[in-house]
Amino acid sequence: MSKSVVTFHYTLKDPSGRLLDSSIGGQPISFLEGAGQIIEGLEKQILGVPVGAKRVIQVVAAEAYGERDDSQLQRVPRSAIPFEGELSVGDQFQAGEDQFAPVVTVAGIEGDHILLDANHPLAGVDLTFDVEIVGSRPANAEELTHGHAHGADGAPH
Ligand code: ZN
Repeated sequence: MSKSVVTFHYTLKDPSGRLLDSSIGGQPISFLEGAGQIIEGLEKQILGVPVGAKRVIQVVAAEAYGERDDSQLQRVPRSAIPFEGELSVGDQFQAGEDQFAPVVTVAGIEGDHILLDANHPLAGVDLTFDVEIVGSRPANAEELTHGHAHGADGAPH
């Protein structure tokens, strides 16, 4: 079974129409089919859209960044947070040194305790993607070995 590498531009909005992210004006996104490089609910609907076509794709929260989970809220002493200076509700920072450490959001400030929310910032949010497919080609052997796309042209790296 051959797999595709699809390249697309996107603009991402929340249900109120607020712009969350966009690739317009930058590099389009490439992904290898079935490799989990983009959210599942988006990939499912992008595969099969012809090159050059534009689509509005709705992805419910459960198929995007998941539903919100209240057990991800944690009250910690202010002193446990390795960050100097003022904290405000809505501030986001990484919960560890690792570049893949989860992002946590300050959900509340209660005296000398901080309520942290480890849900993904887009958890519980239904997403709308305006996409334009700019390329689709069979994946090359190196991409299949690596398990990811090598950009629109598949150049080795
Ligand atoms: Zn690679």
